[in-house]
Amino acid sequence: MIPLRSAASPAPLAENGKHFFIWTIGCQMNEADSAKVATMLQEVGYRATDSEENADVVVLNSCVVRQAAEDKVAGKLNSLIRLKRARPEVSLVLTGCMVTNQQDALRRRFPHVDLFFDPSDFGQLERIVPELADLADDLAELPHYYLPEATDARVTAYVPIIYGCNFVCSYCIVPYRRGRERSRPPAEILREVEGLVAKGVREVTLLGQTVNAYGHDLPDHPSLAALLRAVDAIPGLDRLRFLTSHPKYMSNEIIDAMAELDSVCEHMNLPVQAGDDDVLRRMRRTYTTDHWRERIAYTRQRMPLATIATDIIVGFPGETDEQFRHTSDLLEEVGCDKVHVAMYSPRPGTLSARWDDDIPHEEKQRRHQAIEQLQERLCTERNATRLGETTEVLVDGKAKGRWSGRTRGNTLVHVEDEGDLTGKLVDVTITQTSPWYLIGQAVGTPR
Ligand code: SAH
Ligand code: SF4
Repeated sequence: MIPLRSAASPAPLAENGKHFFIWTIGCQMNEADSAKVATMLQEVGYRATDSEENADVVVLNSCVVRQAAEDKVAGKLNSLIRLKRARPEVSLVLTGCMVTNQQDALRRRFPHVDLFFDPSDFGQLERIVPELADLADDLAELPHYYLPEATDARVTAYVPIIYGCNFVCSYCIVPYRRGRERSRPPAEILREVEGLVAKGVREVTLLGQTVNAYGHDLPDHPSLAALLRAVDAIPGLDRLRFLTSHPKYMSNEIIDAMAELDSVCEHMNLPVQAGDDDVLRRMRRTYTTDHWRERIAYTRQRMPLATIATDIIVGFPGETDEQFRHTSDLLEEVGCDKVHVAMYSPRPGTLSARWDDDIPHEEKQRRHQAIEQLQERLCTERNATRLGETTEVLVDGKAKGRWSGRTRGNTLVHVEDEGDLTGKLVDVTITQTSPWYLIGQAVGTPR
């Protein structure tokens, strides 16, 4: 067993001269899984490279939540045939939600891929990287943390706390690919966050498809609220977030913890999916629009400045014009800060895939556009009120000569400043606004 590097000792590992390249699409859980694979490979001496052309191991982390994502993965896989022909020694790996436990079909469709592995079983990678056998006992403890270059600072990280999903929303393929809910023990999560903080991470996002269902399957049933309190107590962690929450499990206890704990950001990701109760029923979402409304109202009562993100599906089978209007009216009424809108896409094996996909593509596009336009108007108005405000930004990058980072509410801010703000928390006075981001000037001393 290789002892894990202590977080405080950044001694470089012996490099083995080999390189890996990871391509990821899909949700934050996939990003976290890719970071974990990268960490595993780094632990045994591999280094990251920025193109598949000069990699020894190429990992594709796939998403199949909509047909468009699945098509993109298939396109990427097919584009690697040429690489495999030119360099047969390169190992091609497919993971993520495209991989099921029936892998024969995948093997027939993509014979040039060396390994298909289920994202819940990282140990499988050992089949093409035998050195990983030495890590086997430590896999659960390896952080979901990835430094592309030794000199880069990484200030934000994802930490999965619950895998899988016990819901069966009629449109959704996730439970078929990610299995039943499995919570990680609190002690393991706390050790991972402590290790990340010791490496310089300042903001952690706890992840799960139903993150607020955390703990029901563990002895003593620790709640997400209890976990938030324990993570908040870790010295040196500046910000804590969690996503994605299910409206059914959004308890007062969790909202109270958000309001009370200093590190927990006042930002809630609470997908409503539709603003019509009949559509919600047919989606098998298990709550009503009033329940969602009331959860947002309680959140705002406890945290008047809380920002809200939600997900919407347009063009669900049978969604009438009037039902779509209910969704658009609900968004207008509640005023979310961010709406992820998707056109319904039938997924194999789900309940709704047996129903007629009766909303024409053009109509789905029209509804999609209508939500985006509504959101653009609402966010333009909302962000305009922030002109002149001073807000805290955690700077995590630089592009086109400007620093960029996020507020506690998760709004993107571009920051003008001559100094080096990498990884710093800075107060920023907003000088320009747009629907999608803010621009400002750093004031005071970065910390
Ligand atoms: N667990 C989260 C969402 C997981 S899937 C939740 O319960 O909200 C991420 C998003 O993809 C969903 O919120 C939904 O808006 C979208 N999505 C899932 N299945 C879809 C489908 N078949 N067609 C279109 N969008 C879909
Ligand atoms: Fe899919 Fe519903 Fe589970 Fe979210 S709660 S992952 S939408 S089945």
